[in-house]
Amino acid sequence: MNQPAKGDLAIDLVVPCYNEAEALPETHRQLAHLMDTMIRSNMISAQSRIYYVDDGSQDETWSLISTLSQSDSRVTGLRLSRNFGHQSALLAGLFTATGDAVISVDADLQDDIAVIPEMVGNYRAGSEIVYGVRRSRATDTALKRNTALLYYNVLQAFGVRIVHNHADYRLMGRKAIAALKEYSEVNLFLRGIVPLIGFKSTHVYYDRKARMAGESKYNIPKMLRLAIDGITSFSAVPLRFVSVMGMVVFVISIAMATWVLWIKLFTARAVPGWASSVIPIYFLGGIQLLCLGVMGEYLAKGYVESKRRPRYLISERVAEEAGPQAGAAEPATESRSSLA
Ligand code: UDP
Ligand code: MG
Repeated sequence: MNQPAKGDLAIDLVVPCYNEAEALPETHRQLAHLMDTMIRSNMISAQSRIYYVDDGSQDETWSLISTLSQSDSRVTGLRLSRNFGHQSALLAGLFTATGDAVISVDADLQDDIAVIPEMVGNYRAGSEIVYGVRRSRATDTALKRNTALLYYNVLQAFGVRIVHNHADYRLMGRKAIAALKEYSEVNLFLRGIVPLIGFKSTHVYYDRKARMAGESKYNIPKMLRLAIDGITSFSAVPLRFVSVMGMVVFVISIAMATWVLWIKLFTARAVPGWASSVIPIYFLGGIQLLCLGVMGEYLAKGYVESKRRPRYLISERVAEEAGPQAGAAEPATESRSSLA
C-alpha cells in the first residue's frame, strides 16, 4: 500500500454541535492543542482542519464558531439551515471535509480525544475505519446505560450488525467515506451502516467521561427516534414477527371458536362468561394495534425514503482561508458539494 510519508496525512476532525455554546470554547482549546501536538510531532500534516457543524442551534453556538474560524485558520464552520439531527450533522461534516481521513467526535468531549493519535496510527497501518469503543460507561446514568444495553441486545437479536459500545466516535478514510456516499437512505443510522461498508477495520478503547458542560442534547424522543430508525432501517424481523404472530392468533381463535360451538351445541353448560368474551377482545385489539404500528413504521420509512429529500442543507460556511465561498451564504446540498 502506498502510504504517504509521515506528516503528509491531512486528518480532519468533524464536530457536530447543537446548542453547545457552553462546551465549545473548552472543546476547541483541547482539540486545537491536540492537533498542534500531532502536527509538531509530524504525525499529521499542517493542512489538517477542524469542522464545526452547527446543527441549527438556538444559542450562541454559531457566533462562537464564526469567531473561532477567524482566530484559528484551521477551523471551518458549517451551519445547517435548521436542526437536522446528530446523524445528518455528522454526514454534512464527513462529506465536506477533504482530509485523507476524518475523525468524528462529539462537542462535549465525552469521548476521550487522547486516543486520536492511536486512531491515526491504526489508519497509517492500513485500517480504513477505526472505531472508538467505550471500555466503561460508568459516567452515564443508570437509565442510559441499561437502555443502551437492552437496545444493543435487541438490535443483535434482529440481526443488525453493530459494534458494541461504539457511538459515533470513529475515524474513516477517504475510501470509506466515498463508500458511505453510496448509501443514500434518508433515515441514516451511521452505526449500522458503517460496519456494512467493509474494509479493514480496527478498534481503539477508551473510558467515556462525563459531559464537560451543558446537558445532553439527546432528549427521550430523539433517543427513541434513533432507536426505532436503527431497527427498521436494517431489519425486517419485526414485520416477519408480526405475520407469524398473526398466524398463531388466527389458529388459536379457530380452536376457540370450535370449542365454543361445541359447548353451545352439544352440552348443557353454555353459560356465557364475561372473561371468555372480554379477554379475546382485549387480546386481539392489542395485537392488531401492535401490528398496525409496526406496518405503519415501515410504510412511513418507505414513504420518506421515496421522496429522496436532502439529508442536510448547509446555509453558511465560514473559514479564514480566502476562498470563493468563505463567509458567503452558500446553500449547498451534499449531492452538490460532491468531492469525489
Ligand atoms: N447533536 C446534534 N444535533 C442534535 C442533537 C445532538 O448535532 O439534534 C450533537 C451534540 O451537540 C453533541 C453530539 O451530537 O456534539 C452528541 O449529543 P449529546 O452529547 O447531547 O448526546 P449524549 O452524549 O448524551 O448521547
Ligand atoms: Mg454527549
